[in-house]
Amino acid sequence: MKKKVLLMTLALALMIQSSVMAEATHKHIWEDDIKNSNETINRYTCKCGATKDEVIADIRDYVITFDANGGYVGEPEKETYKGRIKWLPIPEHTSDYQWEGWFTEPEGGELVDNTWIYEEDTTLYAQWTLKGTRTLTFACDGGSYIRPITRKLGETVDLAGYVPEKQGYIFKGWYEDPRTKENEVTEYTFNGNGVLYAKWEADPTKEQPDTLMTTDTIYLTDEQYYERISRIQAIIEELIERYLNTKGASKGAPFSMSWRNSYGK
Ligand SMILES: [Zn+2]
Repeated sequence: MKKKVLLMTLALALMIQSSVMAEATHKHIWEDDIKNSNETINRYTCKCGATKDEVIADIRDYVITFDANGGYVGEPEKETYKGRIKWLPIPEHTSDYQWEGWFTEPEGGELVDNTWIYEEDTTLYAQWTLKGTRTLTFACDGGSYIRPITRKLGETVDLAGYVPEKQGYIFKGWYEDPRTKENEVTEYTFNGNGVLYAKWEADPTKEQPDTLMTTDTIYLTDEQYYERISRIQAIIEELIERYLNTKGASKGAPFSMSWRNSYGK
């Protein structure tokens, strides 16, 4: 009887031992543990509770270079984290340019945002839309009025079509320097705002009726200056009176138009 009990105990002990052995040596059946996986690891879980992580080899840090493409960027390089750049830098340019975003190419390419996943070192390019303009004003020096022209920054305009008239005078072209009027300008590039000055030569076959604004002199004596100012004042006063009499004192056509027409040619 005693012997039998001992055998049973032995058998029980063997059974316990073998079950522990079985648990330690069984072949795990790995199932993808989506809940505990993330962008850098895939986790697998076996029913026994064991886990195994698989590193996603492709995801590492890359260097992203920002080419401001004519503008300026404070932080020209960033490293990715989990394949991403959380905050793309904001580049700067003069107020003539509007930033359109970061692209994969200097022109064209794809627009990149914060969700973009990088798989290699990458250069991104700022792209800009030119919105700036410049204005050229004509100083006709007593000739007929020529409306200022406004063009996109960098554009060039042929000045052949911009010819003022002045009774008794021949137009001799546009000049940048109002004093010397030596180097004629035949086309203008809108890199900046500018003024061009008309050059006039008295037509020997005609009379020069208007001496008020016809001289090419830029520097006037005080006497000349006050004489002109008082004559211009008189003309303006007369025009105001004429305007008020014909149009009435209420709203009407812009005053400058009637002034220009009466005074110009
Ligand atoms: Zn297992």
